[in-house]
Amino acid sequence: MARYIGAVCRLCRREGVKLFLKGERCQTKKCAMERRNYAPGQFGQARIKLKEYGVQLREKQKVKRMYGVLERQFRRYFSKADRRKGVTGENLLELLELRLDNVVAKSGFAASHAQARQLIRHNHFQINGRKINIPSCQVKKGDEITVREKSRNLEAITTSLERTTGKMIPEWIDVDANAKKFVIQETPRREQLEINIQEQLIVELYSK
Ligand code: SF4
Repeated sequence: MARYIGAVCRLCRREGVKLFLKGERCQTKKCAMERRNYAPGQFGQARIKLKEYGVQLREKQKVKRMYGVLERQFRRYFSKADRRKGVTGENLLELLELRLDNVVAKSGFAASHAQARQLIRHNHFQINGRKINIPSCQVKKGDEITVREKSRNLEAITTSLERTTGKMIPEWIDVDANAKKFVIQETPRREQLEINIQEQLIVELYSK
């Protein structure tokens, strides 16, 4: 499974927005975006006006990085979204939102997407009673994701859940922290996704 292993704060700085890739640190003053809010590299502070293509490209890169998906896989998501009925951009976001690693991170069982991926790879979760270790697995409405019996007291999960208490969890996920499980209540609608993404720019980019 290919994945990005470079410095993730550089990605936020490149996109000019917080992508929340480092869990707790993203909420503190140590966040690189608080201290160096400009693109990395020698010309990071230069004023460069992006043309239409550049704007579309940056939006696509931002979404890829936000969900931790690399180019080839992202293309596959786009093709799948394009083949579905409805608005392609919204279909794309729905597919990305319903990745197992994303719902584990958003439900508070992991501090970040990276940690969610690792926990899933290490067999700490099951879907509807079946063991699963594929972070990109698609979940659907009604699915119950549970921490496996042997992992219920795992520090990474309990700490993450404690830190999540009082924080916003998407309304389409129903979390039962005591039972160490959550249920996908409904397929998320676009207006329920509180993310600053202009998905139509990605559709325009891939439609060239
Ligand atoms: Fe991005 Fe988090 Fe790093 Fe801040 S701390 S730059 S939000 S990954």
